[in-house]
Amino acid sequence: MAERTPDDFRAFRVHVDGESVSRRVERCGREILPSNDVEVAVAYSSLNYKDALSASGNRGVTKEYPHTPGIDMAGTVTASRDERFSPGDRVLCTGFDLGMNTPGGFGEYVSVPGDWLLRLPTGLGARQAMALGTAGLTAALALGRLAAAGATSDLGPLVVTGASGGVGSVAVWLASRVGHEVVASTGTPAAAGMLTALGAARIMDRAELAEPNPRPMLRADLAGAVDTVGGHTLSNLLKRTAVGGAVAACGLVGGADLETTVYPFILRGVSLMGVDSQHASPQSRERAWGDLAAAAAAEPEKLELLTTEVTLDELEPRIEQVLSGRTVGRVLVRVLGE
Ligand code: NDP
Repeated sequence: MAERTPDDFRAFRVHVDGESVSRRVERCGREILPSNDVEVAVAYSSLNYKDALSASGNRGVTKEYPHTPGIDMAGTVTASRDERFSPGDRVLCTGFDLGMNTPGGFGEYVSVPGDWLLRLPTGLGARQAMALGTAGLTAALALGRLAAAGATSDLGPLVVTGASGGVGSVAVWLASRVGHEVVASTGTPAAAGMLTALGAARIMDRAELAEPNPRPMLRADLAGAVDTVGGHTLSNLLKRTAVGGAVAACGLVGGADLETTVYPFILRGVSLMGVDSQHASPQSRERAWGDLAAAAAAEPEKLELLTTEVTLDELEPRIEQVLSGRTVGRVLVRVLGE
């Protein structure tokens, strides 16, 4: 680990002055950190859609600037007033307020309440944990909800939308591991090879689900879906889900609106499950991270396949890429490293 202390460390900071937004890596001190119970030296973080919004001055995500984004971090506890944690403990944090209005994982140190922290699961290093990050957690939570709702593989294929993105690519991998025939819906033909290697049985053009369809129901040919797109895509998925199947709604890259009738719910017993990784209970987080650690231990090469590693100094162009919907897989951010 580089020679840094909480009194002299580097952070990727966002400044907003009226309409103008500027971003740069700066030397910082303890004065930018809140006084929470646990201080952590950050080994790795990751870049999520929400981080790109925070880095663009989006006041719906971050109210006060200057600010350090980074909703994910994994690293080592350096100081703790919380009796559950001691210096040297290996921990991770995703969600809560990290990187939103609390300085986040794009800084070499963070200060967080102990309730936000989980110990790194056995066998999962900080680098792998952040290659997964909030996107991986969301994918694992979505698959857990689908399984609990009864969307089993005997009902038909499972669609993953926004498949080449962070949530989508991990969901393709995890779903194929538990025996689903995965249909990867994507608008990025160049990602087909990666998606097939992750376990997709078939690639579907994103356009097939994107158009509004006036029919109240469609042929039931799916067990359900992990949907990151929303809008007409989600509406069409509900119409195509078989009796007893389920759709997990995770995201809104295609729109926040949802037009539906009650027919999928009352004629086919379809379940629409919401996924909220930010406020997931400790029990569901522990379970999801257990599933993620098992997948990473069994198939580390697949996690590597969907991961691109950058440093804090290389973040800037990646943020623009996320905002324009051109990210493929996960962007892992090396902060202090391991
Ligand atoms: P990424 O930017 O990594 O991926 C988004 C993917 O969506 C793109 O790679 C692309 O995949 C697809 N896409 C982009 N633009 C459009 C469009 N206009 N219409 C349809 N598809 C599009 O984002 P994440 O995977 O990190 O996040 C996906 C969504 O999930 C976001 O809305 C995010 O806010 C949400 N999210 C929700 C969480 C929760 O707890 N509920 C947690 C994390 C994320 P392709 O080319 O393959 O179609």
